[in-house]
Amino acid sequence: MSSIAENLAQVKQCIADICKGCGRDPSSITLVAVSKTRPAEDIQQAMLAGQQVFGENYVQEMTGKAAMLPDAVQWHFIGHLQSNKVRQIAGLTSLIHSVDRLSLAKELSSQWVKLNKVCNLLVQVNVSGEKSKSGTTTKDALALVEEISLLPNLQVQGLMTMPPFFDNPEKARPFFRELKLLADEIKNKAFTAVTMEHLSMGMSGDFEVAIEEGATLVRVGTAIFGER
Ligand SMILES: *Cc1c(COP(=O)(O)O)cnc(C)c1O
Repeated sequence: MSSIAENLAQVKQCIADICKGCGRDPSSITLVAVSKTRPAEDIQQAMLAGQQVFGENYVQEMTGKAAMLPDAVQWHFIGHLQSNKVRQIAGLTSLIHSVDRLSLAKELSSQWVKLNKVCNLLVQVNVSGEKSKSGTTTKDALALVEEISLLPNLQVQGLMTMPPFFDNPEKARPFFRELKLLADEIKNKAFTAVTMEHLSMGMSGDFEVAIEEGATLVRVGTAIFGER
């Protein structure tokens, strides 16, 4: 087994163990293998080990790798997205985790309208309010989701967050919990084109805690591919 395959197996085992501990079904959690800065060969290794969902942060890097890899790859865009680059990824992504403003959503809508397809997206919320992080505020999230839901060819599938970095993952727990509460509040509004079925939270250092708090998508890079 390659070390990537071994790491993947280990991460999946961790997910299974944590699910058992908190009474969740492991099949309700999608592991997004974050392959930013990694060559296409590393993605191929992971694919041989059964991984199909990959997360990328940079438009050019994602389109470059997509051209080299099979169509079976499901690409999730997880980084900060500039509106002028949306056209390059139109139709390529199965989910965009990082929609944080209405202007970006409008551009996504117009590009996906042209394709006559639906763009699945998550709204990124900066729960901690840290200046260095992207995301709308907790206070503005509900209004943003509602505005996005009125645009054609978009489906808001949930929320994403990145808490501050802590050595102790327990410290991230309140931020995950807050995102879950916010998602529940938005779900209760039952907006059309808003499913709120997904919570994207948890990375290599804290995905276990995120799963306990309700994550359905965990974005794991280092624990699979090694240090960047
Ligand atoms: C890089 C990145 C990850 C993965 O982080 P690791 O600590 O390597 O697991 C997850 N989410 C986002 C948004 C990232 O930029």
